[in-house]
Amino acid sequence: MPNNLHTFLQRSEQKAFDAEHKRKLLFNIAKYDATVVRGKQQYADLGLVRKKVKNIKWKVIENLDKHLIEFEKNFTANGGKVIWANDDNDAQQEILRIFKKHNARTVVKAKSMASEEIHLNEFLKQHNIESIETDLGEFIQQLDGEAPYHIVTPAMHKSKHDVAKLFAEKLGTDINLSASELTLVARRILREKYAKADIGFSGANFILPDIGGIAISENEGNGRLSISFPKVHIVLAGIERMISSVNDLSLFWPLLATFGTGQKVTVYNTILTGPKKEFEIDGPYEMYVILLDNGRSKLLAEERQREALYCIRCGACLNACPVYKNIGGHSYGSVYSGPIGSVITPHYNGMEEFKHLSFASSLCGNCTEVCPVNINLHTLLLYNRNDAVERDLTTTSEKTMWRLWRKAMLNRKMMDNPPALLKNLFVKMVFNKSWGKRRTMFKFAPKSFSKMWQERERR
Ligand code: SF4
Repeated sequence: MPNNLHTFLQRSEQKAFDAEHKRKLLFNIAKYDATVVRGKQQYADLGLVRKKVKNIKWKVIENLDKHLIEFEKNFTANGGKVIWANDDNDAQQEILRIFKKHNARTVVKAKSMASEEIHLNEFLKQHNIESIETDLGEFIQQLDGEAPYHIVTPAMHKSKHDVAKLFAEKLGTDINLSASELTLVARRILREKYAKADIGFSGANFILPDIGGIAISENEGNGRLSISFPKVHIVLAGIERMISSVNDLSLFWPLLATFGTGQKVTVYNTILTGPKKEFEIDGPYEMYVILLDNGRSKLLAEERQREALYCIRCGACLNACPVYKNIGGHSYGSVYSGPIGSVITPHYNGMEEFKHLSFASSLCGNCTEVCPVNINLHTLLLYNRNDAVERDLTTTSEKTMWRLWRKAMLNRKMMDNPPALLKNLFVKMVFNKSWGKRRTMFKFAPKSFSKMWQERERR
């Protein structure tokens, strides 16, 4: 059994029966569900907006090569520098090169899932560079030595008490601090870091090719502080973050806010077009945008699944997924979890190692239902499964099992003649391992439908 599948099953088993974990997770998702309903009220015709944004993303992804070149041209004209990174190693080395050039030893980081992909914090630590997460959820996770649990709310699985306990252990604060007092502790620590950091780092919610800029959305102001104080700003952006124009933001900003957190619009929305200009009083003197591929081109090459590149990382499909709600974010063993993670990870990180994620779904379609960009997620999971079979990545026992099943199902005599007892025994033998120990094995009725029908006709 491949290692990833083995650990996925182990972790899932453990989390699915952890009542306390489920209580915290469902409590936070219930709060999200309640606010999203309110956020959606701002739309007169939400269906139309969803269709429009899907159409924009379809056009952009079909012409991604042209938009990337357009962005490079315009961002460079604005005084910025564009770097192309094929994979995590490329991105790490380019970032290190910038740190060396500026003799930098500290970085303040705004939230970025792309940086999780390239394991940036661990990499910088190996090079004795201090990297501080400034988003509160990410700050908590970094303090706890854990990866983000959710793409929008990184510490979703922690209660206020868990955070108070963590702060008490790691920062020596009083365990009885309230939520706002805990926030103030983080704020005090981070304020000092912003002022002293050599480099500011962020992701990009959207890449704007027409004006040569990027857009960042955040609720805490930490993003703006991370990129305004330091002399250098590095942006790591997945190439699929492209939209066609700055004008599209009027659709994308409210949609991301509504489906991400239930807000009408995120508190801080910033557009950055290169480093500080002569007439500006603050901002970085140098700004780099690293365009990260890291498997995205492989997904782009898949005609049926490339739709997954329309994702705006709102996290709605995670919150809606019955599998995510039971096993939580860390069980997936991948940077991106939930339905979107299960679709893209096999393409980003290898079908052989991660195909099992596409099979770990009830295919209820709730993810597709809630996706603001109308990504047909549950169908994409089926396409991934189909690819795994086509590429001969399923086990011999699975193949044998389905061959036998097909033979039996297509043979009337085999279905009708053997007694139910024998058929049940056969199914138990063949499916025993794959059926799973938590599910009750199905049982054949004493008589098949066709037999009963024949008897009825004879009467
Ligand atoms: S797939 Fe859709 S619902 Fe899921 S994170 Fe992306 S945009 Fe949001």
